[in-house]
Amino acid sequence: MSILLIGSLDDDEYAEWKTHLLAHLPAGETLVLATEPHDVDAVEIALVANPPHGTLARYPQLRFVQSLWAGVDRMLLDPAFPRAIPIARLVDPALTQAMVECALASVLLLHRQFPAYGRQQAQADWRQLAQPLAAQRRVGVLGLGALGGACAQAIAAVGFPVSGWSRAPKAIAGIECLSGADGMDRLVATSDILVNLLPLTPDTAGILDARLFGRLPRGAGLVNLARGRHLVEADLLAALEAGQVSHAVLDVFTQEPLPVEHPFWAHPGITVLPHVAAYSAPESAARIALENVARHRAGQPTTAMVDLARGY
Ligand code: NAP
Repeated sequence: MSILLIGSLDDDEYAEWKTHLLAHLPAGETLVLATEPHDVDAVEIALVANPPHGTLARYPQLRFVQSLWAGVDRMLLDPAFPRAIPIARLVDPALTQAMVECALASVLLLHRQFPAYGRQQAQADWRQLAQPLAAQRRVGVLGLGALGGACAQAIAAVGFPVSGWSRAPKAIAGIECLSGADGMDRLVATSDILVNLLPLTPDTAGILDARLFGRLPRGAGLVNLARGRHLVEADLLAALEAGQVSHAVLDVFTQEPLPVEHPFWAHPGITVLPHVAAYSAPESAARIALENVARHRAGQPTTAMVDLARGY
């Protein structure tokens, strides 16, 4: 029986993942690539990186799916996805560290008003803006999971008061942990900078909309590092135009790559990042994924399991 590597990967990416997976492959296991001839009836485990829709349904003996990416939203939209099969996400300290760096950089960019100084530089305008300390700006983090929780703690360590929002109530030292609709109301009303690290589910799609922007303190900053479909793009443009949001750092978009004619590219109130906040590094992710596969093979509890009822 074999382990399949399948994803929306080019030949070089397949080759790189294969190298690192073979380095950690448990004794007695066989790795096959979706791009190479293989026996579909022999595949029991799939290591997936956004597998093209319809492809996983071709494996009748599939028993376990391990994602090589942190988010599984695109895979779950596959109408042919075999939903009875357990799915694990990737939780990788290296990916978490990368996300912490990007969240911190984005929050500090907004806090220290670099976008405003960039606009002043374009006009040779030497003018010092009032600068509050971190302790005087509250940061709200939507999502307190593997990534949001670590980012909230890192942002708090710099001196910002931080509130975070999750589905179930949580306790994280140094963070005001909120949940439920009331918690969301409180977080949004008090966030001078709002960072989104929610998974994309039917409950969270479009959550960054006009209603939410209208409840933020006037001139708040926005950081979206999760998924493009969390954001209602037209609502953000209107909120920027009205001054309700002062600047947005966006790493993810409804359509990626962001089309060249998209208004975000040239907007002075938007910093565009080309989906670079945190990617799965095969060096660490291959080991972590195969450790979970080994737990599955040994009948032990696997980690980072997706709950299909919750959608993440
Ligand atoms: P995770 O560990 O599953 O955490 C998700 C968090 O969101 C949890 O705290 C969860 O609450 C909360 N949540 C989910 N649905 C909610 C709802 N309806 N209301 C309130 N809270 C809700 O996920 P993660 O590993 O931190 O990853 C988060 C997302 O980051 C991924 O899904 C992916 O979209 C994105 N991502 C982006 C990049 C990039 O490069 N831009 C890279 C990796 C990941 P509970 O704690 O109560 O469950």
